[in-house]
Amino acid sequence: MLKTEVLSAINVSDAEYKRIIEKAAETVKRGSVAALPTETVYGLFANALSGEAVRKIFDAKGRPQDNPLIVHIADFEDVYKLSDDVPIEAKLLAEKFWPGPFTMILKSNGKVAKEVSAGLSTVAIRMPDSKIALDVIRESKLPLAAPSANISGFPSPTSAEHVIDDMTGRIELIIDGGDCRFGVESTVLSLTGDVPKILRPGAVTAEDIKSVVGAVEIDESVLKPLAEDAKVSSPGMKYRHYSPKAQVIVLKGSFKEYLDYINNERKDGDFALCFDGEEDKLPINAVSYGAENDSLAQAQRLYGALRQLDDMGAKRVFARCPSKEGVGLAVCNRLFRAAGFNVVDLEKALQAGFLWQR
Ligand code: AMP
Ligand code: MG
Repeated sequence: MLKTEVLSAINVSDAEYKRIIEKAAETVKRGSVAALPTETVYGLFANALSGEAVRKIFDAKGRPQDNPLIVHIADFEDVYKLSDDVPIEAKLLAEKFWPGPFTMILKSNGKVAKEVSAGLSTVAIRMPDSKIALDVIRESKLPLAAPSANISGFPSPTSAEHVIDDMTGRIELIIDGGDCRFGVESTVLSLTGDVPKILRPGAVTAEDIKSVVGAVEIDESVLKPLAEDAKVSSPGMKYRHYSPKAQVIVLKGSFKEYLDYINNERKDGDFALCFDGEEDKLPINAVSYGAENDSLAQAQRLYGALRQLDDMGAKRVFARCPSKEGVGLAVCNRLFRAAGFNVVDLEKALQAGFLWQR
């Protein structure tokens, strides 16, 4: 068990802020792991050039060794230190979306520890839009590998409390920077094929990317479970992911169909994950995760809501299905995975004359 120090960087003096950044930079330079806030989710940061340091991240999370990490940088020029093959699209995309919730996969030049790329010939790179993360990267003068700061498989942390719940005793330092602005992980775009391809949707959307590079593909694993024998372009897509302890069922349809379904199916331990304003109309305890037409709010609140449902003792969660337009695609991707792709189309089920209408 490690002793975990928690330092708050919220509303502190300039001198205290400087001390916190120096402490975090010293921690990663020494080969240890520090949890830092970013605009997406909290991350576990370590020196990307050191295999020993990076292995500590995998240990703390219980992350499968074949799931690679994203390397975080603070200046675009650092891309050239990690890849000898930087296409013009990478520069144009970085100009538009960095710093921000956007990760690019490029050919690796082998400088990062092999554990970071998990045996692949590529490296994922991002410049986060978080003053704390950028200041620690600059102060340490290192590229920092960082996955989300949760136990592998569970919902990512969007507040320091979530990190404290998951990582106390497992890492040395947690910096509290308040709630994360976006709440879902970055968009991951591969630039190693003929056409740029989204491997994981995030707050930078397919439309945003298209406006810079003209064409973009979306990997088929984004909204579908992978077939047993499928070739995996992003190993992270293979695993059970973002899931609370409770079983989640996503119910696609109108609020009326959702309500009918719950009225007919509910038993003890069932909870609802609904949109704002629907809580009082439901016959079971409910947690909301944003307004129906507000994908950004849903992204920001989804993981916190899933964690809250576990804290409340939910056994089974009936979730309202988000729109898959724009940022909604990221919300759908995370929620479908949290549900292990247990998604019920209520309208189709009704037409087919089964479920609660039988
Ligand atoms: P996380 O660290 O939890 O934000 O997850 C990082 C995501 O990026 C995972 O889905 C990884 O599989 C993916 N990733 C990281 N590096 C690569 C890479 N070189 N090639 C493909 N996917 C990657
Ligand atoms: Mg993660």
